[in-house]
Amino acid sequence: MSTVNAYLTVAGLDVDVVYKDIKNLHISVYPPVGRVRVAAPERVDEDAIRLAVIQRLPWIKKQREQLQGADRQTERRMLSGESHYVWGERLRLDISKHGRSNVTVSGNTLWVTTPADYDDTQQRAVLDRWYRNELKKAAPALLEKWQPIIGEDASKFVVRRMKTKWGTCQTESRAIWLNPELAKKNPRCLEYIVVHELTHLIERTHNEHFVELMDFHMPDWRARRDELNEAPLAAEEWK
Ligand SMILES: [Zn+2]
Repeated sequence: MSTVNAYLTVAGLDVDVVYKDIKNLHISVYPPVGRVRVAAPERVDEDAIRLAVIQRLPWIKKQREQLQGADRQTERRMLSGESHYVWGERLRLDISKHGRSNVTVSGNTLWVTTPADYDDTQQRAVLDRWYRNELKKAAPALLEKWQPIIGEDASKFVVRRMKTKWGTCQTESRAIWLNPELAKKNPRCLEYIVVHELTHLIERTHNEHFVELMDFHMPDWRARRDELNEAPLAAEEWK
């Protein structure tokens, strides 16, 4: 870990500067808020750093906009035209307030209808409930497929919102918990989580044997995990 050696303000931007034993100056923009950091060779002076930041300003601004867009994707406002993800597909939300609560997918459109007096929080709850149901419908077939292969049975699966985990395995009760956000990702990501959690019924920790079992049953599990952990895609406007 390197320490911050200097703080600069360049064109209204707060910049952290770290001096290092390196040949070239590097500029990075970090999530989630778009913090700008410059790693600079020790002999470079402040004016040279300012100039480098000014030269890269369009790039820095673009990076920051993308990060803010990524935030917007997680805070959906429930307005028609917004992008929402269902099983890895980007869909365009079409929301209307009439009749009873209903969610359907047709082509590239995610149709959500709610009673007329629903506000955005209630509309979001209707959609979130639908995502949970999507996951509840998809999980049993995967468990039926993988339990005989892995040779362990879960007692049950539960769809539960978790802040930091896609899935978890209660080794005492042998219950598997799945995060409803999985219904937004490609189905092969859910399959990876099911296999991962079932494997925990054999090995509690991610030890060498656990990795061996994963490699044996699902040789491409690393690619699936990477796909799952990709940053949310930036919100895009549909024309
Ligand atoms: Zn695990």
